[in-house]
Amino acid sequence: MEKGDVFVISAPSGSGKTTICRMLVQRLDNMELSISYTTRPRKRREEDGKDYHFIDPKKFDMMICSRELLEFASVYGNRYGTSREAVRSIVSRGRDAVLEIDVQGGKKVKEELPEAVLVAVFPPDWRSLEERLIGRGRDTPDEVRDRLRVAGEEARELLSYDYLVVNDELEAAVTRVEWIVRATRLRRERAAARVKKIFDGNGEGKRWRE
Ligand code: 5GP
Repeated sequence: MEKGDVFVISAPSGSGKTTICRMLVQRLDNMELSISYTTRPRKRREEDGKDYHFIDPKKFDMMICSRELLEFASVYGNRYGTSREAVRSIVSRGRDAVLEIDVQGGKKVKEELPEAVLVAVFPPDWRSLEERLIGRGRDTPDEVRDRLRVAGEEARELLSYDYLVVNDELEAAVTRVEWIVRATRLRRERAAARVKKIFDGNGEGKRWRE
C-alpha cells in the first residue's frame, strides 16, 4: 500500500496551531494527529490519550532508552516526545500524520525522515500573540511571560522550515496549510504509482484517485 506523509506543524505558542491542526484533520480525508507523550501535568479540559499521553518522567526515560521516541524535547521545563510506532502506524495505513511539535522536535524529525514536510505558523503581529496567550486563560502570568520570550527565539528558528504560514485570519491560514498538504500528495514520489496504474494492462488500469 502507498505510504502516507509526515507533516510537522510548529509555531510559537499562542499562534493558533492547535486549532489549525484540528481543522485540518477535520477537513481532509486520510489525515491523523499523532498524540504526543508528555511529562507535563494535565491541564483543565485536557483528556489523557486525546490531547496527550500524560506519563511520569520515569516512563519517559524508559521510552527514550528503548528508542520508542522518534524525537523528544524539553519545552518550558517539561518533556514532550513523539512515538515512533504511532507515526509508523498512521503512515503505513496510507494516511498522513500531523505532528504538532516544537521547532527542536521538527528539526530532529527532518533529520530522521528527510521527506517530512515542515510547516511553520506565525502570528500576524506580536500584540495578537500576547492577547491570545492571555485570552485562553490556561497559563499563569509568569508562564505567559516565559512563553513570549521563547516565542521570539522560536520564530527565528522556524524560518528554516519548508513552508511559512501567517495566521492573520484562521480560515485563510487553514486553507494555506490545506494547499500544502494537497500539493504534497501530488508530488512525483507519491503520485507516480497511481499514474502508472492508469496505463497498466493497455489502458484497462485503475482510475486516478487523489
Ligand atoms: P503545550 O504544553 O502548550 O501543550 O505544548 C508546549 C509546546 O510543546 C508546544 O510548542 C508543542 O507544540 C510542543 N510539543 C507538543 N508535543 C510535542 C512533542 O511530541 N515533541 C516536541 N518536540 N514538542 C512537542
